Amino acid sequence: MIKKASLACTVCGSRNYAITVSGNQRSNRIEVKKFCKYCGKHTLHSETR
Ligand SMILES: [Zn+2]
Repeated sequence: MIKKASLACTVCGSRNYAITVSGNQRSNRIEVKKFCKYCGKHTLHSETR
């Protein structure tokens, strides 16, 4: 089962990336370091629905 999720910047809260996650990954929240164009730097992005 595949569902869609967004990755939101934990600094400014903007949703910058859309990802697909498989069902067996849902137990732990995904956190990735990605570039945020609003912050102008790499920040930690976490999964939101
Ligand atoms: Zn940001």
